[in-house]
Amino acid sequence: MNRRSFLQAAGLGLSAAVLPISFSACGESTKRVAPSGRLNLSFEPYELQLKHAFNLAKYQRTTTPDVQVRIDYDGLVGYGEASMPPYLGESVESVTKFLNSLDLGQFTDPFAIEDIHAYMDSVAPDNRAAKASVDLALHDLVGKIMGQPWYKIWGLNPEKCPNTSFTIGIDTEDVVRQKVEEASPYRVLKVKMGLDNDKETVDIIRSMTDVPICVDANQGWNSKGQALEMCEWLADKNCLFVEQPMPKEMHDETAWVRERSPLPLIADEALQRLPDVKRMSEAYDGINIKLMKSTGLHEAYQMAVLARALGMKVMLGCMTETSCAVTAAAQLAPLADFADLDGNLLISNDRFDGLKIVDGKVTLPSAPGLGVTLLG
Ligand code: MG
Repeated sequence: MNRRSFLQAAGLGLSAAVLPISFSACGESTKRVAPSGRLNLSFEPYELQLKHAFNLAKYQRTTTPDVQVRIDYDGLVGYGEASMPPYLGESVESVTKFLNSLDLGQFTDPFAIEDIHAYMDSVAPDNRAAKASVDLALHDLVGKIMGQPWYKIWGLNPEKCPNTSFTIGIDTEDVVRQKVEEASPYRVLKVKMGLDNDKETVDIIRSMTDVPICVDANQGWNSKGQALEMCEWLADKNCLFVEQPMPKEMHDETAWVRERSPLPLIADEALQRLPDVKRMSEAYDGINIKLMKSTGLHEAYQMAVLARALGMKVMLGCMTETSCAVTAAAQLAPLADFADLDGNLLISNDRFDGLKIVDGKVTLPSAPGLGVTLLG
């Protein structure tokens, strides 16, 4: 279904601020498609195709629903996207409904990011990925107006970007071996856990390589005893940290494990936005910031700064996304201790060019804004 028929099928009208613009027809556009002096939002669904089926502790999938967004302003185009893995509770329909409910045409200044976020939060309390898509397009636009990438606007040193990890999902031994071979350019492997064969997966990896691993249990360990036992076992396996060892509701139990664990614990599902950060410091050593949880870069930057001020580790993560959102997150990489920015590498239909991974390290493009170029 193409975008127009999708919108018709959904019975969704296009407001004055939501223009019927074809992404593919406009390309990397400086073409004026809307009157100047207004923010003009347009969007289309775009299903991300995964190279490998994605197996996590709780489900499997081969695609990720996504909505691609652009904001036209005074002859410039800002790009953004919303990626909606099912556990986040958003969908193409909910993102479409939220974006259609916005009247961005009331804003005449793309630099008014704080006000636009306050406006979006007043429209609906959740819809975090949908808000992120607008936030990213605004940051892209503002950076292009300023002629600078965001890491420079924030005053960050791109030489300080950490290595990024490459994800090895839960899978059969043959597929795990294949993925470890694919991951040979990377200096850190991220291992998904939370099933009965966790130790076997690590043993397979350790039979092939001694690069450091980080482990994401995805809430899969259900008791503090099991979580601590796994942390102690992993500490002898050149593991850097453990992400979300237990269900997010088990805050006190996680604090108990943190007191005793030889490895740092990083919160992922347990936190979403800026107000969650301080509580995380009670039970975790660090936080995993993802743009689709944080409503985009505006709050993600503040979360990174607050976490560092609290003495916590900062990890930057992503969903399966195109290079648009992954490169956006990478703009913050100089503030991060750990990066897990491989979401674009896990899909077969990326439509943007952006960050590069060179010798395992996040390497930021020098192009202004988010630093991305629409392909084709
Ligand atoms: Mg995680």
